[in-house]
Amino acid sequence: MASRISDVKAIVKHAAEQAGFDLSGVASATDAPELNHFPAWIAAGHAGEMKYMEARDDHGGLKRASLSRVAPWARSVIVCAINYNTDHPYSTEGRDSNRGWISRYAWSREDYHDAVLRRLKQVEAALRQAAPAELEPSLTTRSYVDTGPIVERVYAKYSGVGWIGKNTCLIHQKKGSWLFLGVILASLELEPDLPAPDRCGTCTRCIEACPTNAILAPYQLDSNKCISYLTIEKRGSIAQDLRAGMGRHIFGCDICQDVCPWNRKAPASTAPEFEPRAGLVNPALAWLAEISVEEFRSAFSGSPIRRTKRAGLRRNVAIAMGNSGNTEFLPVLDRLACDEDESVAESARWAKARLVQSTE
Ligand code: SF4
Ligand code: SF4
Repeated sequence: MASRISDVKAIVKHAAEQAGFDLSGVASATDAPELNHFPAWIAAGHAGEMKYMEARDDHGGLKRASLSRVAPWARSVIVCAINYNTDHPYSTEGRDSNRGWISRYAWSREDYHDAVLRRLKQVEAALRQAAPAELEPSLTTRSYVDTGPIVERVYAKYSGVGWIGKNTCLIHQKKGSWLFLGVILASLELEPDLPAPDRCGTCTRCIEACPTNAILAPYQLDSNKCISYLTIEKRGSIAQDLRAGMGRHIFGCDICQDVCPWNRKAPASTAPEFEPRAGLVNPALAWLAEISVEEFRSAFSGSPIRRTKRAGLRRNVAIAMGNSGNTEFLPVLDRLACDEDESVAESARWAKARLVQSTE
């Protein structure tokens, strides 16, 4: 058993590497200054319909705004990051009007929550084994992948894993921003790493490239305008003035990461779970427009794409068809315009009108 706290940290970092994480670091579980902006961001409505972001504690405080309130026992946050980039073109390179775009993170064979949590549990187990009983007789630990009351990227910054870019993604100077994050809260006080310095400099590529102007200012995202939010989280119809900017995105959006210079040489992942499922890189719009209930279930079993549900995906596909400029989609849009789901039918009618207009 390790006797010194520095040994414990080294063991944890070694365990993270052994588990397949590309990066790891330790941050103190104090309330970081970045969290001070969170209540105003929520109050401005920038979280859209993502009610889980607004979860509150018994005293009415936003859980994600204060780690010390929601987990007063926690002393350290161990942040682990794994690269999910696979060797396939970026969305900004796709020119085929028959095809749509699914965000890179959602191509994987296994849901990333499971793939990352499995690895995180290995690190947590190593921590529990290494923690000196005399220093921490009742060690408490919790592992989270997206599910914790914590803004992971803030603690990733303070653990030295990367900086928060102007596009609000976490970026590492060698690995880029295609990173899944997992965090372990621990009651043991480990020595924190140094925060990662911001290397965005004068660059504003992501802000300029965003087709819906969702990055209101550096480091400030309005989810209501973000294609990721619109295609995944938004239920029902999507505001008409945002549809043209959505292009052929049908689940998520990678543009502000595709254009980031730090992703130019981003390495490919070695984790087999993140290899794409068949057909998901640049998927055929015609396939997904009329996908049956059974096929949706089997094609996306265990995939994050289930989150938008079959109706949401087909709504997105109808909009993508409308933005494709490809009039060969008119017959399928005719059928979708009579769909039993009103958001699909209405989106298809909009898409038809847009396609017809583009030929006039
Ligand atoms: S994900 Fe797409 S829509 Fe959202 S901020 Fe980035 S570029 Fe804009
Ligand atoms: S594109 Fe430029 S400004 Fe945006 S996150 Fe990357 S480095 Fe930062």
